[in-house]
Parts: sequence; structure tokens; C-alpha cells
Amino acid sequence: MTVATVQRIRIRVTGVVQGVGFRPFVYHLAHELALAGFVGNDSSGVFIEGEGAAESLAKFERRLREEAPPLAHIESVQVTDIPACGDVTFIIAQSNAQPDKQTLISPDLTVCDDCLRELSDPNDRRYRYPFINCTNCGPRFTITQDVPYDRPLTTMAGFTMCPACHAEYDDPLNRRFHAQPNACPDCGPQVTFVHGDDVRCSGENAIQQTITSLENGAMVAIKGLGGFHLACDATNFDAVQRLRERKHRPSKPFALMARDVEQVRQFAVVSGEDEQLLTSRERPIVLLQKADNAHLPANIAPGNTTIGVMLPYTPLHYLLVGDVPLVMTSANVSGEPIIKDNDEAQSKLAHIADAFLLHNRDIHVHCDDSVVRADYPIRRSRGYAPFPMKLPFDVPPLLAVGGELKSTFCMAQGKQAFMSQHVGDMQNMETLYAFERAAEHMQAIFRIQPEAIVCDMHPRYLSSQWAQRFAAENNLPLVQVQHHHAHIASVMAEHHMAADAHVIGLAFDGTGYGTDGTIWGGEVFVGGYRGFERIEHLPPMPLPGGDAAVKLPSRLALAYLWACDIPWDDNLPPAQPCAPATHRILRQQLEKNLNVAQSSSMGRLFDVVAALIGVCDVSTYEGQAAIELEAMTAADVDTHYYAVDAKAFDLKPLLVNIITDLRDGLPITVIAAKFHNTIVKWVVATSLHLRQQYEINTVALSGGVFQNVYLRRRVQKQLQQHRFTVLTHQQVPPNDGGLALGQAVIGHFLLQEK
Ligand code: ZN
Ligand code: ZN
Ligand code: FE
Repeated sequence: MTVATVQRIRIRVTGVVQGVGFRPFVYHLAHELALAGFVGNDSSGVFIEGEGAAESLAKFERRLREEAPPLAHIESVQVTDIPACGDVTFIIAQSNAQPDKQTLISPDLTVCDDCLRELSDPNDRRYRYPFINCTNCGPRFTITQDVPYDRPLTTMAGFTMCPACHAEYDDPLNRRFHAQPNACPDCGPQVTFVHGDDVRCSGENAIQQTITSLENGAMVAIKGLGGFHLACDATNFDAVQRLRERKHRPSKPFALMARDVEQVRQFAVVSGEDEQLLTSRERPIVLLQKADNAHLPANIAPGNTTIGVMLPYTPLHYLLVGDVPLVMTSANVSGEPIIKDNDEAQSKLAHIADAFLLHNRDIHVHCDDSVVRADYPIRRSRGYAPFPMKLPFDVPPLLAVGGELKSTFCMAQGKQAFMSQHVGDMQNMETLYAFERAAEHMQAIFRIQPEAIVCDMHPRYLSSQWAQRFAAENNLPLVQVQHHHAHIASVMAEHHMAADAHVIGLAFDGTGYGTDGTIWGGEVFVGGYRGFERIEHLPPMPLPGGDAAVKLPSRLALAYLWACDIPWDDNLPPAQPCAPATHRILRQQLEKNLNVAQSSSMGRLFDVVAALIGVCDVSTYEGQAAIELEAMTAADVDTHYYAVDAKAFDLKPLLVNIITDLRDGLPITVIAAKFHNTIVKWVVATSLHLRQQYEINTVALSGGVFQNVYLRRRVQKQLQQHRFTVLTHQQVPPNDGGLALGQAVIGHFLLQEK
């Protein structure tokens, strides 16, 4: 090689390229192609300079993209020619922090096969070590305090690597080269088992004690990756019941952790798609159909035909889950965020957990398990956050704070929208603090300085009140977005709809504040990101006691009957649970309109029908009545109630017909199906009508009601049969967990008009 042929290029790679083995990969590639130069991390990604023959440099550039490590996600590669400087070796350079630049932090990663092999190899120095990890796996998002992603800026900073670990960390040919959380039993984090005041042990003893306690029916609080779980033997009815009593959680389903897919098949139906989700790198909780002969106690998921299951995702889980599946439910005090610190767990869970399995690797930010159903996400959190969504257009730096229930927020900038991990129901100060911590964290690791704040229009949402304060204190513009408009914009953004696109939007959910100050939730819109017209909606109905009505579907049903002039006959299921005095008070409340809100909610209509046919009279968790109604819907019924057309939905004939069917002794499974089908008919008739009037052929479906698979599939199928393009959620949840994405994009357009 003569000097004249030597060239040098500078390459900048952005995307998820830190903490995923990208530098070792570049190092190997450069050596293979006999290039000189260096590779390093900085706050905006990976920088490379390569020097060598032109032909080798071209190969280098190509293979960089084509052979990148499986966990890397390259957003861009920029190459510039620079003068050669006569380097002879290729090295890994020091990391550079540049405070204003941005890089992507990877989500936490499921333990890899190589590490699992070592975990079960008695001759390996990390045999049964619960914190084994490498550049291809381990914690990332939840331990990172700042960027660049380097050990001193993670919660591993306090652990000094032993010589053996350090040698791996420094060896470019080792799987643990620059693996920031690298650790071993000699130098890394440790588990501790605590039971009462006298039992305290660590290491393998702690693991064994935990297993024994679980076998004996105990509740153990186990510290995991993004927070604590409460665990118990899922096959032990009494243990599950005790957990329900202590957690004050009478019927909300518990998620399970099973050893492997084979074990899952003992109690659930696993399709090929389900298996892919269960074993995916993200390892979400997957909602599966319960098997007919499932040998599981009925109190795991009462009233549900589905069951939430995940496979182990940390080495610790692999050591704990054995011949029986475990209940693994997020450990929190009812309504509060998941607990992540040892002290907090020991004080707040003292009355729930019999014992604790703690560890000393701090969780910097909480992150709950994600939940998915084969065709859509229900909660996008661990494994997915903070991986960005791609927007169809550029937006200025924005913080959209989300809604109230199942809250998430969105930090957006340019074409990237970073949806946060699940924050929870923002109805108390603890959740608000968790939101603030998570938002500060996201701001730190992505270097985004919001130039505007976006929130829901609801004056009483804690998130909206926080947004108002924050905007005022920081002198930032505040944009308020209508709830259902945000739902529709969210599904539009997910499908990369252009800035001026128009759709027919169906936003069906429980509650959202309308522009007229009433509660909306059964909305048919025409419009786009910039605005919408409310074309149609369910008739406003009384909610006695406002939001409290949500918890009592039977009272709600009586209120709907009252509003439709239908008498409360004693033999109607919702009339039975109430004493005559309660009837009198309710009737007076409705007649005098005392503390009665008005709502056009679709979610509430599902609650009412569930109560009317005797499926659910008291709701102990959000959506319970609707979930139980869906669970009992007959699959093979195609009939519906009265001829629905595109006019305003008339509730009275619907309720009268349901009561007639009930009196005629029609099975409630058939009534439930006929009710669902009536909604489908109304949706299709309305969409056809609007297509003619507005010449719009795209229908966007959003809102928590579309978690109902029966409804969603039928609506989708029938609209497609009429050649509509149907947009449904695939990346963010249809419930309020996806709201912030819509807020961010609408916020961008409303800001332009300010
Ligand atoms: Zn690994
Ligand atoms: Zn070590
Ligand atoms: Fe909503």
C-alpha cells in the first residue's frame, strides 16, 4: 500500500448505538479490514475515524450498516472525507460528553442466551449469580442517570470492578468489553433475603430461602429491574387469596411469570404470535386465552377469559421460577406507583409481604412491566421505553404530560417522540412525584429542553394543573388539547399521517373533558391534527355522583333507565342489589339533578349493559364491567338490535330491547353479542354516511373501549369490507397510555397558530 492510496473518513452514527456492543463491533470490523483510527461514544452517538485503502473504507462503511449488532438501532450514518494523518492502529477512544447533544439510551434488555448458559454452568465464575450481564443484555434505561452511557453515570458507579471483571471490560475481544453494568459475585451487587427481624441472609442462601418461602405459600416482595414485584405461588389458592386481601384488590387479574412456554401451555392457549411475543427481547406480559382445563385457582383472574403471563427476563427470575408459575404483580400501595427502593419497600409493604428479597443495585427510575395482547399494546413500558416513536414531521422541543389514568408523558423533538414508561393513575401526590422524577430523567438523558408544555383540557387533572404551574414558572407557552382529539391524533401519528390529513375519528372511552364542559366518550369526529368537528356522539346521560358512578355500574344502569323513562322493575338485575331506601335517594338525586354530571361516554354504556344483564354490579378496577361483558360475549351471533342508521344513537330502544330479551330468557351471552353488534352497525352506518358527505375514506379508531377485541375486530373487518382504510393502534395503547403522543403532535400545530 503506497501512501497516496491511504484515505481517512469520519463517520458519525446516531440511534440506539450505546450499551449494545456497537464499539466492539466497530473495533473488530476495523481490525478485520486492516484500518487504523478510533471509535468512541459521545452524547450524540458513536464517532468513528477510519484510515486505510479506499476499497477497505468502502467495505467498512457498508458493513457498518449491514452487520450492526442485533440490539443496535441505527438512525443515521454520516460520512465525511478528512485528510489522512498516518495512524497505524485502531483503538477505542475515551468517551466525550457534550452537554447539548442527544443520543438514544436503550431500553432494559432481557438476559441473553450466552449469559444464561454461564448462569447454569457450575464451572463458570458467575454460576447462579443473579446480576450476570454483558454488552448484549442487562439493565440500561433504569440504571442510567445521565449520558453518555458510561458506568460512572449509572447506579453501578459505586461498585468497583475486580481484576477479573476489569480484564473483560478492557478486552475488545471479550463479550463484556465496555459492558457498563459488568459484575461478578466478588465485586458486584448482591441479593439479601429478609424475613422479620431475625432472618437475614445473602447470596445463594437468599435465593434458596425465597424459593422455600414461596413454596410454603408466603408473599415475597422481590426487587427486580424496574421496581418490586409481589410474588406468590400461583397454584396456591389460599396464597393468592391472602395476597388479594392484603392488597385490597378483590378481583383485578394478577399477572403470572412462568418458567417457559411449555409451562404456559399448561394453563393458557399460546398461538404462534403469542409465543413470539412471550419470548421476544421485550418480554412483555402477554394476555392469553385461558385454557379450558387450566389447573389454576379461579382467583387469579376472576371473570376473565384471558390471563396475563410473562417469561423470566432477569437472571434472578430464572433462578426463582421453577416447577410452578408465580404470581408477579407490581408492588405498590393501591393507586401509587411501583415501589423501587429497598427502604420504601420495607416500610410500605410491611403489611403485605411476609419476606423481602432485596438487592443493592439501585433503580434510578421505575419502569413497570409492559402488557400486550396479540394485536395491540395495553401498556408500553419496560422493554419498549424509552425507544422513540418516529413522527411524520418535525416538532419543536415539547413536553406533553398525558391524561390521568394509565398515564404516560411524551418528550418530543424533531421527528422523535419519546413516550415515557407507564407512570400510573395520576390521582395522588406519589404518582405526581414519580411523573416529575421520570420527566427530569428523560430530559437529562435525551438533552431535551421543552419550549412548550401540552396538557389535557380537564381542569382537575393533576397533570394539567402541574403543566399550568410548570409553564408559568418557566415562562413557557401552554397548550390545552381536547382529550378525544388527542386519542385520534395519537393513532394518526402512529400511522405517519401527513400534517394536513383528514380522517373520520371514532374515539370511544370512559371519560374525557369536552370543549363544552361536559364529559365526552362516545365521539365521532371529522378532522385532523389541527382541529376537528364533533359530528356525532352518544346522547348525554346522567352520572349520579360524577366520577364515583364509575364504580357502581348498577346505579349507573338505574340512572340510564330513569333518563329513558324505563321503570325500575324489581326483577331487573341492577335494581336488586340496592335497598328500597337507596332507590329513593337515587331517584331524588336524579330528579333534583344534585351532583349529577352528564356524559356521552361509550365506556359507561358498556358498564350499563353489563349491569343490566347481571354481569357486574360493582366495579373494583377500571374497565371491570366492560371486560367481563366482553368475556361472556357469544362469538357466533350475527344479529343486532333494531335497524341502526347514521343518525344520532338512540339509547331508549336499545335498553328496552335488551330488557325484553332478558325477560324472554335469551342467554345473556347472546344479548351481549347483540349489543356489541349494534355498536358495530352504528359505527359502519355513520362512517358510510360521513364518507359520502366529506369524501374521507380513512377511519381512525382510538380510546380504551377499543381494547375490546370483539368490538375492534368486527368494526375493523366490516369497515374494510366497505373499502375503508382503518387506522388502529399498534405501537402505543388505545387507552390513555397513548394520549401523550396525540397531545404532542396537536400541541405542535396549535403552537403555530398562537
Ligand atoms: Zn448477556
Ligand atoms: Zn468481578
Ligand atoms: Fe381516554
